[in-house]
Amino acid sequence: MKIQEIVVRTILGSSQIADYTINPYIGCSHACAYCYAYYYTRRIYGIRDPWGTYVYIKKNAPALLRAEMKYKDPGSIYLSSLTDPYQPLENTRRTTREILETIAEYDWPVIVQTKSALVTRDLDILSRMSSVTVGFTIITADERLRNFLEPGAPSTAARVSALRRIKEEGIKTFVFIGPIMPGTKIRDIAKIVELTLEHADLYYFDRLNVKPYMWYNMERKLPSSLVDFYKTMIASGYYNTIKKEIEELAKDLGIDYVILF
Ligand code: SF4
Repeated sequence: MKIQEIVVRTILGSSQIADYTINPYIGCSHACAYCYAYYYTRRIYGIRDPWGTYVYIKKNAPALLRAEMKYKDPGSIYLSSLTDPYQPLENTRRTTREILETIAEYDWPVIVQTKSALVTRDLDILSRMSSVTVGFTIITADERLRNFLEPGAPSTAARVSALRRIKEEGIKTFVFIGPIMPGTKIRDIAKIVELTLEHADLYYFDRLNVKPYMWYNMERKLPSSLVDFYKTMIASGYYNTIKKEIEELAKDLGIDYVILF
């Protein structure tokens, strides 16, 4: 794993999810086979190394944020759009933690989305913010498949238990079920909902949004038969069918939900 410190010129980026986004790192050692961040990272920074093999630490991010928050309009901040703010390196580097400390001082709303239970380390900061939401991405309850698709990320069980812990602190939570890999059965999606039902305020469901280089990355990491299966399922109208099934499931269970496709 290539790890390097860098200095960046700006830290509050634009976002479609909130007013701003912050990516404390470039790259992500969770190394998900379906990650679309590779495409944007390649386009923005020109990095061509295989996804999951490098992490650049934005070492001036906390100081820069403090400077930018002084003159930018207050707004909500999403952590993070192109990396996981709680990937393993955060355990020792604490860049995300320092960023949260600054956000808490200014008390701007924050939305954190991660696959890691490490976020619970920062409950002392999160619990004193007046507007905070923490979400976990979970794409399967099948640990073998999870390990295959997200080899560097924590187990689904660890995420569920962290979600419970966050909810117990009285913090608003969500579960992001996405990308739903083509061909995933509704019973597998139902299983994720069942595991998290007591601890989630809201569910998001999203499809696999194919970006440039996505198939290329998957073909490097997954058996070609599985990648072919995904392509076939997409072509067969899988997402139209599963969307209807998700709507029925959500109504049956009475959950608050947003389908993003
Ligand atoms: S955790 Fe998120 S950013 Fe990191 S590799 Fe997986 S999908 Fe990409």
